[in-house]
Amino acid sequence: MQKLRFAPSPTGQLHLGSARTAIFNWLYAKHTGGKFVLRIEDTDLSRSQEEYTASIIKDMQWMGMDYDEFYKQSERFPIYKSYIDKLVAEGKAYHCQCTKDDLIKRNQSRGIYDEVTKYDGHCRDKNLQPGPGTVVRVNIGPERDIIFKDVVKGRIAINTKELDDFVLWKSDGSPTYNFAVVIDDSLMGITTILRGEDHISNTAKQIILYEYLGFPIPTFGHLPMVFDTDRTPLSKRKGSTNIEYYRKQGILPEALLNYIARLGWSHGNDEIFMLEDLIKVFDITHLNKSNAVYDEKKMIWVNSKHMKLEPLHKVLKAFEIYLEDTGQVKVGRMQDNAWLSQAVDLLRSRSDTLADLYRDMIPYATEEYELDEKARELLPSLCTDTLEKAYQEAVHFILETSSYDATLEAALRQVAEKHTVAFKDLIQRIRIQLTGRTVSPDILSVMRLLSPVLKQRLSKKL
Ligand code: GLU
Repeated sequence: MQKLRFAPSPTGQLHLGSARTAIFNWLYAKHTGGKFVLRIEDTDLSRSQEEYTASIIKDMQWMGMDYDEFYKQSERFPIYKSYIDKLVAEGKAYHCQCTKDDLIKRNQSRGIYDEVTKYDGHCRDKNLQPGPGTVVRVNIGPERDIIFKDVVKGRIAINTKELDDFVLWKSDGSPTYNFAVVIDDSLMGITTILRGEDHISNTAKQIILYEYLGFPIPTFGHLPMVFDTDRTPLSKRKGSTNIEYYRKQGILPEALLNYIARLGWSHGNDEIFMLEDLIKVFDITHLNKSNAVYDEKKMIWVNSKHMKLEPLHKVLKAFEIYLEDTGQVKVGRMQDNAWLSQAVDLLRSRSDTLADLYRDMIPYATEEYELDEKARELLPSLCTDTLEKAYQEAVHFILETSSYDATLEAALRQVAEKHTVAFKDLIQRIRIQLTGRTVSPDILSVMRLLSPVLKQRLSKKL
């Protein structure tokens, strides 16, 4: 059985790049009917913050990424310590008392300036005991190639010359990432690891540890980076890359997941996936080797498709979360759940985002609506005497019925015919009167949505 994991460090909010790593691992776990682990890598005690752990979990829940197991590395130090002791006892790791300054001085005195902190093995054979300020380093052993088959990039070979005796245990009593990650991935039974290509040299280091500890080596896949449309790496500084940003912009979680899944993975030319279909077709043989480009416009386009396609209850739920997260209030009839659900269903297919949906719903929900610019321009041409007469007669029919259906439409057509006005002009006149807009969903649905206030709207002085 496949077991995958997402292992964020809680040193910042969930970012689009790391969300993609989470999504790929999660999708592949779902695709294979396997398990998914969320592991918070908070061994760097000075940089990790509880609030980031909470926000990462919130973002994952919002996107619907559930997990079977949850761990925090800060609660597992005794486990890591027992393996450190084992490696030291077996001579595969050793205590080292060199400071960074010692190392820099020694390297510079040998004319090494580009990799000044690369470890020179100074304490390797000294058999030092632990003490204040000492660290534990791995002894990477004789020069050789570390070779693995990457599911994205193919065969990768890294010579140990490029590495050094890296630190496993820090002087503050905490494990390093490269050490804790191997212990955890092994003990948790992780079978496949998909992560950013910036981890390739870490993978070589980790393979040395798997071998030393006698653990089976998982399958690795290193994902190319995500770039902006201007070909610069996506950066947190640009602000548009935190998952929270998308939530506040009114993006549906299903759409965001769909969009992100296509950043570095493809299924023919398909762009729009409902989640269950995505899970069905998501395999790791179609991960792309080339860098992915993030395109905000395309993301919004994908969202507009999901606004139409998702089941109504999902759009409603996302709408509620959007309002809560942005501190926007439900105005007028939006407070009536049955009305809100009818309004969302009617208006969603015209809205690119939940933010648009909210804005477009306001004139339907309150009586403070006004004519927009286009309606103000068009209205005089629709206020001829004959059209006004036709309009008054139409109002009569509309107010007489409570079923806004084909019978009413036929009656309105007859009114137009009788007064020799174009049916579409009559409808446009009614539309402007009811909504203050020149475009709307079909007029009968609009009447149904506005039925509690039809009378006052139809006689409103514009
Ligand atoms: N905590 C590491 C990170 O956030 C995890 C890398 C990995 O997947 O092994 O980069």
